[in-house]
Amino acid sequence: MLSKYSIGVGDRFGRQATAQLRACVKLAEDGVEVIPVWNKSNREHLIIGSEPSAVRAAADAAVRALGWTKPYHVDADHIRLETVDRFLAPSDFFTIDVADFIGHSTLNSQLSTGNAVQRFAERHPELAREIKVPGIASAFSLSRTELEQIAGKYLAAVHEAGRIYRYILKHKRDFITEVSMDETDRPQTPPELLVILAAIADEGIPIQTIAPKFTGRFNKGVDYAGDLAQFEKEFNDDLAVVAHAGGRYGLPSNLKLSIHSGSDKFSIYGPMRRAIERFNAGLHLKTAGTTWLEELIGLAEAGGDGLALAKEVYAEARDHAPDLCTPYAAVIDIDPGKLPPAKTVQAWSSAEYTAALRHDPKCPQFNPHVRQLLHVGYKVAAQMGQRYLKLLDVCEESIARNVTENLYQRHLKPLFGTADS
Ligand SMILES: [Zn+2]
Repeated sequence: MLSKYSIGVGDRFGRQATAQLRACVKLAEDGVEVIPVWNKSNREHLIIGSEPSAVRAAADAAVRALGWTKPYHVDADHIRLETVDRFLAPSDFFTIDVADFIGHSTLNSQLSTGNAVQRFAERHPELAREIKVPGIASAFSLSRTELEQIAGKYLAAVHEAGRIYRYILKHKRDFITEVSMDETDRPQTPPELLVILAAIADEGIPIQTIAPKFTGRFNKGVDYAGDLAQFEKEFNDDLAVVAHAGGRYGLPSNLKLSIHSGSDKFSIYGPMRRAIERFNAGLHLKTAGTTWLEELIGLAEAGGDGLALAKEVYAEARDHAPDLCTPYAAVIDIDPGKLPPAKTVQAWSSAEYTAALRHDPKCPQFNPHVRQLLHVGYKVAAQMGQRYLKLLDVCEESIARNVTENLYQRHLKPLFGTADS
């Protein structure tokens, strides 16, 4: 069972698990329990050339090193049927990604041949009328046609999630299941979320977390871009739907939202915090690979060879920007005109480099274009191989300090911390 509050942390090169865990230790000392979940997607493993078993080994080692006695988990992030195998043994948390099956016409037509949509609508007359969800001011109502439209859009995705869930179940017991639908173009509305949860319950998937897509842009490593009021309303409504659907359809009692934040969505932490307090709800906050950016900051801060390497990474990333950005095109917004030439960066001091990269929106030198480029530029460091990894060891003090402080001060405290922590 996943605890009430949890944070998903990524660690591209597998060296910062202890520094990450230290942030949870600090919060626990403040009296707040947030459970760490180490997540790494298949795409990251392919780019780095790493194995899912290494994530488990790093997590276990960190837990031993710091004597962490609370739960912790290893998340096979965004897996699909064709990629799940090598994640089976080392993971105990599976994020089943079925976004590509939303509105899938072929599958939906196969399903509708068997009248799956009609059968679903008949099984759920309670969804084709006015629906009062506690916590949502105005009731919403779906007609039978609208219910069938929503079911027609999502049943294939839920069906696929069921196939993957049952495949995992054949190989192991006791794991946490998340279903993610965030990597798609359009956000799911609260009524859609309710229908999806009913369908997931029908499919027999004991999900503990669901990751819908929210309104606005969740670009990698930079702040939220979108309508904050709209986000807050949607987030509150989604929490209400999750609480309602959990009880109504017999889903696990700890069912909660998982926010695939892409990291650093500082401006929605306040609204999220208010909402989870209001509903006494749990939350899983998944952050992406910004720990790798703290490695660069720590290298630059160390000066000497560390700073030189951080500059080299920038120069290479700038040279290969189109290649690096393509796989992430949907989740970054980089203006190439705002990327300083490598020659300029070559002349930067430690302070100039870290000020440009560190995510302090109030700092006038902060450059979100540089930050996003370096965020997706981890392939450059991966290609440096041992040269990069050795310098991580040399500069361990400044890197670990930045990794811990970033997670603790900028993420855990604003979202989960006590007033005086
Ligand atoms: Zn995601």
